[in-house]
Amino acid sequence: MFSAAPLRSQMIRSLLVPALSLVVFFLACAPVRVSAAVVVLDPGHGGHDPGGIPGQRVVEKRAALDVALRVKARLKAAGHRVIMTRSTDEFVELSQRVAISNGTPSSAVFVSIHFNSAPNSDAHGIETYHFSGRSTRLAEAIHQRVVAATGEEDRGVRKARFYVLRYNRRTAVLAELGFLTNAREGGRVARSPGYCQKLADAVAGGVLAVVR
Ligand SMILES: [Zn+2]
Repeated sequence: MFSAAPLRSQMIRSLLVPALSLVVFFLACAPVRVSAAVVVLDPGHGGHDPGGIPGQRVVEKRAALDVALRVKARLKAAGHRVIMTRSTDEFVELSQRVAISNGTPSSAVFVSIHFNSAPNSDAHGIETYHFSGRSTRLAEAIHQRVVAATGEEDRGVRKARFYVLRYNRRTAVLAELGFLTNAREGGRVARSPGYCQKLADAVAGGVLAVVR
């Protein structure tokens, strides 16, 4: 006698198997898509604004761009989308830097790269700034890694009303990666691409710890 039951179960199986494999496929892909973040990198100063103080030998705008481009390479290699507020030696208004950040998806993070300077050449160490509470975690993640990687003095994670942080609607941090006016810290930056890479790896490591 003819029975429809085996045919029906065969049909269900033939529909179910592709459907299930589709679900498995999307589940497998989902973590990849979730972890792809947008990161805005903001090398400080540029163009007619060298940063730092008059007469400073190691120029801040150059060191900041050098490290930021290295951070970009690391983050891109990790599969993230990187937007630079500048990629060359050009002057970009602070309002423009913030506008770029605020134009990104709300999950994006913003990292401004700077170096410190002081009339007193003894001043040295690492500082990391944030303004909003939501940015504390990223500030700490970057700060700890930069201090550990360089062995330089820990001057702390600090809250400040810097323009690029205050008007930023994204998780936003400003890193001061050492004093270029200090002979040791400035010398390391000026003479050692390996040291600049170490700084960049630490900054990128902090970003990756938070966006993943
Ligand atoms: Zn600066």
